[in-house]
Amino acid sequence: MSLKIFSAPVVVEEDPLDLMDEIDALKKEKDATILAHFYVDGEIQDIADFAGDSLKLARDATRVTTSTIVFAGVHFMGESAKIMNPKKRVLMPDLLAGCSLADSCPPAQLAAFQAQLRAQGRDFQTVAYINTSAAVKSLCDWIVTSGNAREIIDRVPKDKEILFVPDQHLGRYLVEITGRKMILWPGSCMVHEIFSIQDLIHAKKNNPRSIVIAHPECPQNILEISDVVGGTEKMRQYVMALKEPTTFLVATEAAMIHPLTKAAPQHTYLPVPGIMASSGETCACNRCPHMARNTLHKVRDCLRDGRPEIEWKDYFQQARAVLDKSLLQ
Ligand code: SF4
Repeated sequence: MSLKIFSAPVVVEEDPLDLMDEIDALKKEKDATILAHFYVDGEIQDIADFAGDSLKLARDATRVTTSTIVFAGVHFMGESAKIMNPKKRVLMPDLLAGCSLADSCPPAQLAAFQAQLRAQGRDFQTVAYINTSAAVKSLCDWIVTSGNAREIIDRVPKDKEILFVPDQHLGRYLVEITGRKMILWPGSCMVHEIFSIQDLIHAKKNNPRSIVIAHPECPQNILEISDVVGGTEKMRQYVMALKEPTTFLVATEAAMIHPLTKAAPQHTYLPVPGIMASSGETCACNRCPHMARNTLHKVRDCLRDGRPEIEWKDYFQQARAVLDKSLLQ
């Protein structure tokens, strides 16, 4: 009997600088523009033509002149770019980059709940955070981002109730700042939900003059002891406006430290640690595992191979009407 000897495949590490050069050349060859969310790795943000939060990127996507868009972010963002640019090819480095928040509001469940509310005679409009699938967007009246939520909520007629989906924490924060009553969908983001209040209090004690900046997707207990609450673009604007070197404790996805450091390098940024619900141990779960699926290799591969691609679906048309009136008008 002969013995077969198996050995593990050898993984050859590619130099990130070589990959960046290759991506640059492929961008020209394939007539492509790269959009990157603030939560993907800094090196991807650095090679992108546009980097930003969801609102900025949705608007940037309408200004792209190349025939191809590569969206380094998560699936609902790629869908939004395709919806805004039906004739362009929209590629994603990894189609499996999802979003726990978007997944917490399946379209069939939302449609059933809306039908139930209508059957009860409730007169409401549905406002969705942009972190939702295109199928959910097509069932809604308005789309908001953390950057424009207040302004959009003000556009909902005062005599209507508001059903806000899918983020209960952002919804509760919006109830507080707008004074509007809302029916809140019980969704949440796996990253923003795990910030440890004990560790934040500890970090504040160790850095007595620090400023806590937190994303409104964080739970109420985190927002209550934060100095500044806002989306990623608001955070960037805030640190840029402060000239005096300051220590910031940052309660959002840890990759956000990269654009903050680029925008205002005079400050020190400390990510607020997450905590594992199962064991109570501090962890590095303030990195979004979905955003982390985006790598330089995958950006290069999708440019080179022209896939994976976001395909147009019938309901994108209705989602487009809602996105248009909410984000572009
Ligand atoms: S950080 Fe949260 S909301 Fe953002 S993509 Fe990841 S899971 Fe979704």
